[in-house]
Amino acid sequence: MTIPETPGRGHDGHDHEDHPGMAHDEEMGYYALRARAMEALLVEKGICSPDEIQGMVDRVEARSPADGARVVARAWADPEFKALLLSDPEAALAQLGYSLPETTPKLDVVENTDKLHHLVVCTLCSCYPRALLGRPPDWYKSLAYRSRAVVDPRGVISEFGLDLGDEVEVRVLDSTADLRYLVLPRRPKGSEGMSEEQLAELVTRDSMIGVANARSPQAVGAG
Ligand code: FE
Repeated sequence: MTIPETPGRGHDGHDHEDHPGMAHDEEMGYYALRARAMEALLVEKGICSPDEIQGMVDRVEARSPADGARVVARAWADPEFKALLLSDPEAALAQLGYSLPETTPKLDVVENTDKLHHLVVCTLCSCYPRALLGRPPDWYKSLAYRSRAVVDPRGVISEFGLDLGDEVEVRVLDSTADLRYLVLPRRPKGSEGMSEEQLAELVTRDSMIGVANARSPQAVGAG
């Protein structure tokens, strides 16, 4: 099969399932090769050192949805922290020892309520708050999700198992190279009195992307 020169960009819009670079081994080889070539160029041009590149890879690999869950749990437990997280995410995250890359992308934290539900997508490629959640799931990068999340967000969310009532407004946020989004899911009913650590167990990766709600205390055997 042929590999487009600029995969993921300038797509001609047709609707096929085998999006380049998502599933096939030979294309993983292509991407690995391309990444290595880009890394060599960055070093050769003096833009960054191999150590700096490895450092960035290590930082992303060290992050997982558990980090995001810790942030959400703190926001649920501490109204002041929540207000800061929504208004100045960087300052709030610093309080928990997380730092975002100094330059771009910026992070925006959006709150889901019983009236407004946010769904995050990157229609162009796979932009994702990696500095907080680690690497995105494969489905997030799929053409199916990237296209359908915009056209039929309710349908997509419903396929993930969450049916939103008509009274809930759904807002789709398209991530970019400059701006990433983290969803602050609704605090589940029945979670009053739970410790921050227990609350964090209710926060799933999917709930921070907006394709699901947080787990109920009953679901984790805590209710
Ligand atoms: Fe992207």
